[in-house]
Amino acid sequence: MPARVAVLGGGVGGTLVANLLDKELGRDARVTVVDPTGMHDYQPGYLYVALGEAKGHWLSREERTLLRPNVDLAIERAVRIHPDAGTVQLERGGSLEWDYLVIATGSRLVPEQIPGLSEGAFEFYSLDGAERLAQELRRFDGGRLKVGVAGIPYKCPPAPVEFTFMVEEYLRHKGVRDKSEIELLSPLNRAFTIESASKLIQPYMDERGIGLTTFFNVEAVDPSAGVVESLEGEKQEYDLLVLVPPHKGAQVVIDSELGDPGGWLPTDKHTLNVEGHERIFGLGDATNLPISKSGSTAHFEAPVIASRITSLVKGTAPKENYGGRVMCFLETGNGQATSLRFDYDHPPQPPKPNRAWHTAKWLFNRMYWETVPQGRIPENAPFSKPPADAATKG
Ligand SMILES: Cc1cc2nc3c(=O)[nH]c(=O)nc-3n(C[C@H](O)[C@H](O)[C@H](O)COP(=O)(O)OP(=O)(O)OC[C@H]3O[C@@H](n4cnc5c(N)ncnc54)[C@H](O)[C@@H]3O)c2cc1C
Repeated sequence: MPARVAVLGGGVGGTLVANLLDKELGRDARVTVVDPTGMHDYQPGYLYVALGEAKGHWLSREERTLLRPNVDLAIERAVRIHPDAGTVQLERGGSLEWDYLVIATGSRLVPEQIPGLSEGAFEFYSLDGAERLAQELRRFDGGRLKVGVAGIPYKCPPAPVEFTFMVEEYLRHKGVRDKSEIELLSPLNRAFTIESASKLIQPYMDERGIGLTTFFNVEAVDPSAGVVESLEGEKQEYDLLVLVPPHKGAQVVIDSELGDPGGWLPTDKHTLNVEGHERIFGLGDATNLPISKSGSTAHFEAPVIASRITSLVKGTAPKENYGGRVMCFLETGNGQATSLRFDYDHPPQPPKPNRAWHTAKWLFNRMYWETVPQGRIPENAPFSKPPADAATKG
């Protein structure tokens, strides 16, 4: 009988791991992806929607079209995982049996955790939010624009910094930059989570007149007064406020008592097993790993999980480990970008922002649908280079 593999979540990680497993195991496995939407969203595109550079329709495709023909798709929400019974309960009453389970349910936005945030702040972390922000930016004719993060962890750590650089350029082109103040509100002691990247981008922020407030952990927003307040007791007035909403893991992880209080899966940093469960793996944003929640992380983790499950099905010892590999672009505006390539042992050494990395990101955005979900990114592409190599050639 073929091994039954259930993959919860048809996002970046879930789709890729399902396709790789089908490719590697063929008739030895029956792979089923479970996702309530039946759609696959390319979230990095929301940044461009917010800035009026892209329309939502190129950001979404039917999940079925991205999966290999033998992979089953259940358009269903998983509501409870029973590890001992090897089943997943589905929202409409059915149940799915599995021998191996991959949890790739991503993260969700929980703006309700911050009083006043939904009413007082805009965001670009959902398609609706990005479209609303685009409208607001078209109306904006100068004033105090504040950009910040309303909770840690959040996916794609570079995104708020990228937005800040890109919105500065947007306002310049619109002719209202001299009437605007732009300020990044950072919860840390620097602009960005990664120290080397913060050091690199700070002079570019100074040169463009972008202010920085550090240790600003958002506590509440008062929309009527136009004030955002931090846990540290500081108040900032704004005319336009853009905040990354707080994130949480999926409800099914919480309800199945598999996650920590934030709903993140305690995951082994090398084997990617959910701790205490040999046949359950955590992938992508859903894990508690101390690395970036990003599509790139999921992209580099998926082959490790596929290889480990393949070994288990074939009765051989799983060998492949995840080394913490991540690769992210960071746009710095004016048609330039840098890149962050790192793993558990090699911190990033981002190169000076240049046109080449901006072009690489542009290319990657266009290539996404035909490459990433199917595992077709060539090993010698600039965004595939391992960090040690990248450090010398970046
Ligand atoms: C504005 C923005 C810019 C970004 N830019 C980049 C970038 O440049 N580079 C980069 O690498 N990353 C970027 N990211 C982050 C990236 O999109 C995510 O980290 C990535 O999608 C995570 O992949 P995932 O497979 O873990 O989760 P997701 O892709 O979010 O997929 C999770 C899936 O699980 C499904 N699901 C949820 N609950 C259930 C359930 N109960 N049952 C079944 N299915 C469920 C959802 O429907 C969804 O399809 C960006 C994100 C944003 C918002």
